[in-house]
Amino acid sequence: MAEHYIPDNLPTRIRHYIDGEFVDSVSGRTFDVLDPVSNETYATAAAGQKEDIDLAVAAARKAFTTGPWPRMKPRERARVLYRIADAVEAQEARLAQLETFDTGLPITQAKGQALRAAENFRFFADLIVAQFDDAMKVPGAQINYVNRKPIGVAGLITPWNTPFMLESWKLAPALATGNTVVLKPAEFTPLSASLWAKIFQDAGLPDGVFNLVNGLGEEAGDALVKHPDVPLISFTGETTTGKTIFRNAAENLKGLSMELGGKSPAIIFADADLDAAIDSTLFGVFSLNGERCTAGSRILVHRDIYEEFCDKYAARAKKIVVGDPHDPTTEVGALVHPEHYDKVARYVEIGKSEGRLLAGGGRPEGRPTGNFIAPTVFADVAPDARIFQEEIFGPVVAITPFADDAEALALANNTRYGLAGYVWTNDLTRAHTFAQNLEAGMVWLNSHNVRDLRTPFGGVKASGLGHEGGYRSIDFYTDQQAVHISIGSVHTPKFGASTAR
Ligand code: NAD
Repeated sequence: MAEHYIPDNLPTRIRHYIDGEFVDSVSGRTFDVLDPVSNETYATAAAGQKEDIDLAVAAARKAFTTGPWPRMKPRERARVLYRIADAVEAQEARLAQLETFDTGLPITQAKGQALRAAENFRFFADLIVAQFDDAMKVPGAQINYVNRKPIGVAGLITPWNTPFMLESWKLAPALATGNTVVLKPAEFTPLSASLWAKIFQDAGLPDGVFNLVNGLGEEAGDALVKHPDVPLISFTGETTTGKTIFRNAAENLKGLSMELGGKSPAIIFADADLDAAIDSTLFGVFSLNGERCTAGSRILVHRDIYEEFCDKYAARAKKIVVGDPHDPTTEVGALVHPEHYDKVARYVEIGKSEGRLLAGGGRPEGRPTGNFIAPTVFADVAPDARIFQEEIFGPVVAITPFADDAEALALANNTRYGLAGYVWTNDLTRAHTFAQNLEAGMVWLNSHNVRDLRTPFGGVKASGLGHEGGYRSIDFYTDQQAVHISIGSVHTPKFGASTAR
């Protein structure tokens, strides 16, 4: 068995955090948490159910209706958020180590995620301090202004890929705007969510503002979505789960933000900078183990450069270092969980009858156990193939040729998803024409995944509803109440006269 690094002082018991206290489930039930390299149980986590959600929502509701947090000035809340960001940065090494252990992500990539989590808190702290709303004056008649208010208890439901960072992407704006929260993290990776509790406590976040309930989606997640005192749900996860949540949230007409699955195209034209396109498309599907919502998992390549691209791409894919996630030379680690490994491995087998296997195709050498899959490349994949249409969420890519712009666009949009799109060309007009016509929430032209946090993040079609990022997050987590005050007699209605204005 290859070397496997296990961090010191690994928590073995993961609990809920409700009203400032770490607690077990009311029922006492737990579930096992696995190390993705050995698939051995390293911890048990409290398995929350409706009664635990009820307690967490009650604590969050009390903190919202009577506590200081929603009533603090933005600058005061921002100070707490800056302290949280500083603490995450100071603990970056340990956080990355635990996240790597829990998820199987390569350690060098987990470090970047911890820093981004700190940045998310700093970004939303800055934004809330700078936030101002419209005030309109009709001279001598009326002033109208917008009263922006936190909504209440925000339910945050998160997936297992880059959990710490994705949790911060919801926690930071929800808290910055003065809401209180109940977080339900993914059951495959509950470790990093519990680390937030201590960080928040030390930063001075009042008790009851942040609550955490672990557990299965169908139990704890479902109870959170259906709870009448939770007016909004921010969800990131699979499209099928998103549809269930949409239906269940309808009863109470909740605010919903849905960041769902993807099957994003990367389109490489013959005039592209080929080396840059290869680097970027390798990164796009093999970084973060391919467990990335915006993965460019369908690569569409112009016929003139198709064979050259496939050869060079496959040669590079074969050189990717797959290994222990804690080894700083590792580029692809272990997939998160044996269930997910089985799913990805099944797609690799399906791919063998749907495309030409150029690299990978199973376990990497020397890794007979654990959730390891060699970076896998299939060429000549037809648009009706399952590996072209379905989200695999692992280190597997499908390459397909195209003859002209019209075919490239038709192939790119031939999916139920619409999260991201990547275009590689030196023709400016073509690049912007594709940006315009791609059915995708986000498009990168000759670049990959780098973005300013002020821009909207989100998908169209089956990839989501609504956008997060910048002011879109502030809008989602706040109510905007319009207030109208008369400063003259002009607008005082007289009964019987027309009051239409
Ligand atoms: P998932 O849908 O299985 O689970 C996500 C969360 O929802 C988990 O916490 C789970 O416990 C909970 N859940 C499951 N059933 C529920 C229910 N009935 N009610 C309430 N909650 C429930 O997704 P996953 O496998 O954890 O994550 C991978 C998916 O997330 C992929 O499809 C990926 O593309 C997507 N994702 C999207 C984005 C984005 O920004 N668009 C980002 C990251 C991941």
